Amino acid sequence: MYTIDMNPIGIVKNNFDKPAPFNDIKAQPSTIVIYDEYAEALTNIDEVIYLDIVFNFHLSHNDKLAHTTYFGDFRGVFASRSPFRPNLIGVTRVKLVRREGNHLLVEGLDAINNSPVLDIKSSDTSHLADNDDTLGQQRELLKKRPRMEIEKLIAQNDMEGLMIKAAQIHGHFCPGLAMGIMAATQAMRELKAQSDGMEDLLAITETNNCMADGIQFVTGCTFGNNALIFNDVGKNAFTLTHRNGKGIRIVAKPGNQATINDASPDFKNLYQKVVAEQNHDEQLIAQYKKVSLNRSFGTLQIPFDMLFTMQQVDAEIPSYAPMFESVVCSNCGESVMSSRAIKNNDGYRCYSCNNSTIRFLDGHGIH
Ligand SMILES: [Zn+2]
Ligand SMILES: [Zn+2]
Repeated sequence: MYTIDMNPIGIVKNNFDKPAPFNDIKAQPSTIVIYDEYAEALTNIDEVIYLDIVFNFHLSHNDKLAHTTYFGDFRGVFASRSPFRPNLIGVTRVKLVRREGNHLLVEGLDAINNSPVLDIKSSDTSHLADNDDTLGQQRELLKKRPRMEIEKLIAQNDMEGLMIKAAQIHGHFCPGLAMGIMAATQAMRELKAQSDGMEDLLAITETNNCMADGIQFVTGCTFGNNALIFNDVGKNAFTLTHRNGKGIRIVAKPGNQATINDASPDFKNLYQKVVAEQNHDEQLIAQYKKVSLNRSFGTLQIPFDMLFTMQQVDAEIPSYAPMFESVVCSNCGESVMSSRAIKNNDGYRCYSCNNSTIRFLDGHGIH
């Protein structure tokens, strides 16, 4: 064994004096101050857009070789970007915003204040420029057809791809979301439906649980575009219908939870230990998270007919959502839809100021 001595070529300056979540550090620009004796190495650095910064995790330690990562899985440091590593070296790609003398202002660095910088390299910018261009073209296409990517995934019956995107609004993966994806994808394909969020395609959901988010995402019928109708009867069921009333209703079979559990036999045992008995063993928790994730994606693999029944229906269709003018409440001065205002002698009052009975939709349903 031999040791390698290194001389820092500069130092990081930002507002993070202590270790913090890497995304928080990345979100703020940092300045890298290059020591005078290395100034010549900065020649024409302004022409480079992306830099790889090699730095030292000076407040970190290297007493363990495997950890639970920021994302919750248990990994060795060579299989992660953990700051707790044998040589305490960090490598991060950043964007160079500008150079001012020996100071480099950069975006995307996850090193804390006073981290010694060991080296700086130009990233392969020609490669990145290509990517940027593709992204630019993709954006122009999406401006014309925002659901293009979702439509493609439906056409390919790629439910895993749909679930990954749907989780961007749902926030987590779960069998309920998977069931919404499955039912909605089936219905969209069956009806050969396209959705433009203009109420020509309507989804009627009979639940407001996780399944409803899968339905909203895949069908494009949402709370905000008035193409989602909530029929609060507490069933894992939904109907997709064109405005002519010809639709398809899909209902989860009784016993669907048992079918999902049977497909993931390790889950019950781990759930019992980690959730029911609150066992906090790091490895056990990591294993539980992994099995839960597999269970959510595994749900997508269960044959449709084992989880659902499907039938053609004639749905009752509401008229297009009306446009109401706004009036101003004489008490609070806030603008309110005229359909939700009470007219009285001095003008209008909103429901809140009038102490009217207001219906809520929350986790309990409508009440
Ligand atoms: Zn969920
Ligand atoms: Zn008011």
